[in-house]
Amino acid sequence: MKGEWGEHCGIFGVYGHPEAANLTYLGLYALQHRGQESAGIVSSDTQTLHSYRNMGLVSEIFTRDVLKRLPGRSAIGHVRYSTAGSSDLKNAQPFTAHYTRGELAIAHNGNLVNAHILRDELEAHGSLFQSSMDTEIIVHLIALSNENNLAGRAVRALKQVEGAYCLLFLSENEMIAVRDPHGFRPLVLGRQKNAYLVASETCAFDLIGGEFEREIEPGEMVVVNEDGLHSFYPFTPVTPSHCVFEFVYFARPDSFIFGRNVYAVRRELGVQLAREHPADADIVIPTPDSGFSAAIGYGHEATIPIELGLIRNHYVGRTFIEPRQSIRHFGVKIKLNPVKELTKGKSVAVVDDSIVRATTSRKIIKMIRRAGAELIHVRISSPPITHPCFFGIDTPMRSELIASSHSIEEINRYITSDTLGYLSLEGLKRCVGDENGSFCYACFSGGYPIKFPTRMGDSQLRLFEDR
Ligand code: 5GP
Ligand code: MG
Repeated sequence: MKGEWGEHCGIFGVYGHPEAANLTYLGLYALQHRGQESAGIVSSDTQTLHSYRNMGLVSEIFTRDVLKRLPGRSAIGHVRYSTAGSSDLKNAQPFTAHYTRGELAIAHNGNLVNAHILRDELEAHGSLFQSSMDTEIIVHLIALSNENNLAGRAVRALKQVEGAYCLLFLSENEMIAVRDPHGFRPLVLGRQKNAYLVASETCAFDLIGGEFEREIEPGEMVVVNEDGLHSFYPFTPVTPSHCVFEFVYFARPDSFIFGRNVYAVRRELGVQLAREHPADADIVIPTPDSGFSAAIGYGHEATIPIELGLIRNHYVGRTFIEPRQSIRHFGVKIKLNPVKELTKGKSVAVVDDSIVRATTSRKIIKMIRRAGAELIHVRISSPPITHPCFFGIDTPMRSELIASSHSIEEINRYITSDTLGYLSLEGLKRCVGDENGSFCYACFSGGYPIKFPTRMGDSQLRLFEDR
C-alpha cells in the first residue's frame, strides 16, 4: 500500500516556448528534491500529446533522444517520490488519457482525502481505472462532466474532491494550473519572455532564467492558451492551511514560497531554537544537508562556532549495493562521517530539522560519540512529529513516528544524546509569521484542517497503518 495515497511531488509547466520539453526537463531537474522515484514529461504540438515517463531520476530518464520525441510549445512535467516497494511505472505522472473531447494530461502534487469514496462511486458507475493514483479520479470526473470547455470541466470535477492539490492540466492547446482552496502545497507563476511558467518552487525558474511573477493563490485557477493568461477563483474561499513542513524540511532553501524565502525562515527557526534551548557547547554541528540553515541560525544566536563536524558523501545513489561478503552493514556510515579532529573531547550541539522515526538520529549520535565527543546536545528546529500527513507529505504511519508514543526524555534516551531540545509549536508559528492562522501544523498537533469524510477517515487511517 505504501506510496499509493501520500507522496511528495514536484510539478512544472511551460506554455508558449519552442523548447518546452527541454525547459520542463530543467525545471524538473531543479525540483528533483521533491521526488526521486519517477519522472515524466508530456508535451503538446497542438495536434496531439507526446508523453514519456519512467522510474528513476530526471537526469537518468531524459536523454537527448527522449527529449527530441517531445515536440511542441507547451509541456508539463512531474517528479514523484515514494519509497522502495511501491515502484510502479503505471503510477508515474503526468497521467494521460483520451476521452471524447480529445487528449488530456495531468500532473498532481498533493493528496485527495475523499479518493476512496469517489473511486468506489465511479467504479460502481462503470469507470475503469488504470492506476492506483488518486489523480486518476480527477480524469474520470472531467470525462463525465459536460461543461463545454476544459476549465469548466476541471472546476466541476474539483468541486467534488477534498484534500491537497496543486495541479497542472495540459490539453492539445491549453495549460491550466490550479491550487486547492487551502493552498497546502506551494505553486508559483513565472515568465520567460513570452512563455508562461508554473512550478512547485521558484528554484525551477532560477535555473532556466525565468522571472518569478507571483504565487498562484489558494483556490485560484490559471488558464493559459492562445488568448493569454486568465485567472479565476471558482471555489468557495476557506482559511488557507499552508504546509509548514515545506518550510521546515521539504522545499529548497533558495526557493520563495508562501510569501517567504525558505532559507530565511529555516535560519529563523534555528535562532528561535537557540533562545528556547541553549546548549553549553563548544561547537554547533549541522546535520547534512537538512540541518544546515537552522544550525547557522542556532550558532549565530548562541554565539557558538559552527563547524562542519559531519561530512556527507554526495555520491551515494539509490543503486548502492552493499557488498554481500563484507562483514557488516554500513548503515548511515555510507552517507555520513564525523570529523574526529573537531569532535574529540568536545561538547557539541548537533542541529537537525526534524526527527521522524529517530533511527537516523540515533546512528548519527552514536557515530559522533565514537568520534570522541564528550557531551552531545541534540537540537531540532521543529516540534515533535506526532501525526501522519494526509496532504501530500509521505510521513510514515503513526506508530512509526517516535514522538507519537514517546516523551522527549524517552527519545533523548533512545537516541543516546545527553540533552534533547525541540522547537516549540509557538516558536515555529512565530518564525513563519503566522498571524492569521494560515498554516497547517497537523503533523505536530493532530489538528487536521480538513475533516475526513467519516467512512473515508477510517479507511484512510487504516491505509496509513498498513504502510
Ligand atoms: P530519523 O532520525 O527520524 O530517522 O530521521 C531524521 C531525518 O529525516 C532528518 O534529518 C530529516 O531531515 C529527515 N526527514 C524528515 N522528513 C523526511 C522525509 O519526508 N523524507 C526523507 N527522506 N527524510 C526526511
Ligand atoms: Mg536530514
